Amino acid sequence: MEAIYLDNNASTQVDAEVVHAMLPFFLNQFGNPSSMHDSGAAASAAIKTARRQLQALTGAKFDHEIAFTSGGTESVNTAILSGLEMDPGRTEIVTSAVEHPAALTLCAHLEKTRGVKVHRIPVDHHGRLDLDAYRTALTHRVAIVSIMWANNETGTIFPVERLAEMAKQVGALFHADAVQAVGKQTMDLKSTAIDMLSLSAHKLHGPKGVGALYIKRDAPFEALVRGGHQERGRRAGTENTPGIVGLGKAAELALERMDEENKRVKSLRDRLERGLLERIPGTFVTGDPLARLSNTTNVAFDRIAGEAIQFVLNRHGIACSSGSACTSGSSVQSHVLTAMNIRQVTPLGAVRFSFSRYNRDEDVDRVLELIPGIVAQLRDGAAPVSRGQAK
Ligand SMILES: *Cc1c(COP(=O)(O)O)cnc(C)c1O
Repeated sequence: MEAIYLDNNASTQVDAEVVHAMLPFFLNQFGNPSSMHDSGAAASAAIKTARRQLQALTGAKFDHEIAFTSGGTESVNTAILSGLEMDPGRTEIVTSAVEHPAALTLCAHLEKTRGVKVHRIPVDHHGRLDLDAYRTALTHRVAIVSIMWANNETGTIFPVERLAEMAKQVGALFHADAVQAVGKQTMDLKSTAIDMLSLSAHKLHGPKGVGALYIKRDAPFEALVRGGHQERGRRAGTENTPGIVGLGKAAELALERMDEENKRVKSLRDRLERGLLERIPGTFVTGDPLARLSNTTNVAFDRIAGEAIQFVLNRHGIACSSGSACTSGSSVQSHVLTAMNIRQVTPLGAVRFSFSRYNRDEDVDRVLELIPGIVAQLRDGAAPVSRGQAK
């Protein structure tokens, strides 16, 4: 049985070309990029190349607007904390109810420990941001807005360019969590009002533990990690040269293939969706039908927990994700589906299938072959889900 991986919004397979680009920086050019000898210079030059590759992918005006970090979570934390430090008269944060925990957990902590006021803008049934609530929250007390470009669970795309323009009008900084959008959406940051943007290598066929924060040249900024002068003082610590080289290569490949891959994964995704809706009654797709990543579908099945389906699919070698996070055996409903009020229809959430450049037609065939039976069995209550009964 060949494994089928449909959980690319959680992490992706590292492209072999990326691995090959990284290897010399483990084995030969391992010098410290700050060192004055040849090995250091080679590492430093490779980091410069990676910065240019990210500049090209994001449409940043200057390559030095890219600072490398340890990943999406660090970038998001850095952006929000920096924004809060800029002006003592501004003590509020505007974010959405459906952000990644990288933003939500930090905001909750700041609310509790520093008395920061956090506006969590709600979404409608389709996961679309409430623009009236956003407009109302935007005042001169807001230090920073942090909103995702695309949602990791449903693929819903927010109009971040417009949201950034609105934030600018009240003098607030705007940070976009673009971890799910970079490599999937065309970007031209130089023509937007976005001040900061977070991205992560492992969501675009690069290695884990490396990412970047875009910081517009004139945007005020305070470092989170302090120490040496690396990354122009914006992120101290000896650079993760192999990781940064891998991220750069992954960015180059993503840019080259974006249009073609978007079309290809969209047709796989749409065929899966259509097939599920046709074959299984009481099934619906969540998220914005008009503005959605082409690789993502989040499907809810009436009367069954997404987790149960995910569990059985996993036994058949298919990796996907359920909308709920499993914490020490008890399941917690996804905050995204809760914010969308999906709870009224299904108690425990949905199944997310997310595609990448490594998925093929056969993957869709296999899922469509298996799921109707799994759903029917679960709905009958005929298949108590336990590890012992694989077939
Ligand atoms: C994965 C993800 C992150 C976190 O990135 P890491 O590199 O895993 O820390 C942040 N935001 C979104 C939307 C994500 O999907």
